[in-house]
Amino acid sequence: MSENILEIKDVKRHYPVSGGLLSLSKATVKAVNGISLEVKKGETLGLVGESGCGKSTLARLLTGLEKPDFGSILFKGRKLDDWTAAERSTVLQMVFQDPYSSLNPRQRIGNIISESMRIHRSGSKDEIQERVEELLVQVGLRPEHHKRYPHEFSGGQRQRIAIARAIAMNPDLIICDEPVSALDVSVQAQVLNLLKSIQKEFDLSYVFISHDLSVVSHISDRIAVMYLGQLMELTTAEKLYHNPMHPYTQILLEAVPIPDPAMQGEDVIIEGDMPSPISPPNGCPFHTRCPRVMDICSNEKPELKEAEEQHKVACHLY
Ligand code: SF4
Repeated sequence: MSENILEIKDVKRHYPVSGGLLSLSKATVKAVNGISLEVKKGETLGLVGESGCGKSTLARLLTGLEKPDFGSILFKGRKLDDWTAAERSTVLQMVFQDPYSSLNPRQRIGNIISESMRIHRSGSKDEIQERVEELLVQVGLRPEHHKRYPHEFSGGQRQRIAIARAIAMNPDLIICDEPVSALDVSVQAQVLNLLKSIQKEFDLSYVFISHDLSVVSHISDRIAVMYLGQLMELTTAEKLYHNPMHPYTQILLEAVPIPDPAMQGEDVIIEGDMPSPISPPNGCPFHTRCPRVMDICSNEKPELKEAEEQHKVACHLY
């Protein structure tokens, strides 16, 4: 598990503010503000943070749906921009949050799953049909389900169909953007276990995005904690769970009493609101809400650096 499949180098994505007085002042929303990360072959990298921290923007950058304003993203050593959309779709797939809107309601399941195979002409009609039925079985559904429509399935089953579609072309990497947050807690664990078993079978890498640290720690090898478009902490799931170093991670973890997504945590309570990504605070982005804030924190931005082996943290306490 050492070869890097994805390398993200100092990536920034800022959006101009449209409408209102701010649009006259060239203000920008700093959705992703200098992220560097890598994802190794066969690994699951969890990305966690509150809503508005920039994780979904980062997901769109990683799939090539948007381009960074600054920095670079390398996929298998080659700039993501240099891959055509058709090439990208064979190696990089996405599973979205909402299994109700991500499947076309007018298409039969067989057509939905086989779309990329048909576009890439990856077999005869019979071979593609056979592969669709195989995929349905692999995700825990029945081969004859290919004839049905999305509305005939539950949320969890639809997410299984979305997973079958994502693995149809044997990709190297799947970006999972909040894939279980729209599902009942009892179904979440089943879908997470399916993702894990498929990963083993196909040697897949995942970037797994969620606001829920209990879900992320259930599936991830390493976890990156994001706040206001920046990384606060990056380490193994084990170290993050047993020895969280950043005060923000410590607060997130207090809301996760047990590492089992079937057991619900309490609501996360962090003093104050998240500052606007249009004018993030000087110094440490978390200093306006940090219970351990010091004088230096409002003036000097802490760099993300290795505080111990395989454990990076952006905080002046270390
Ligand atoms: Fe808190 Fe300061 Fe560390 Fe930021 S740098 S997390 S404000 S202690």
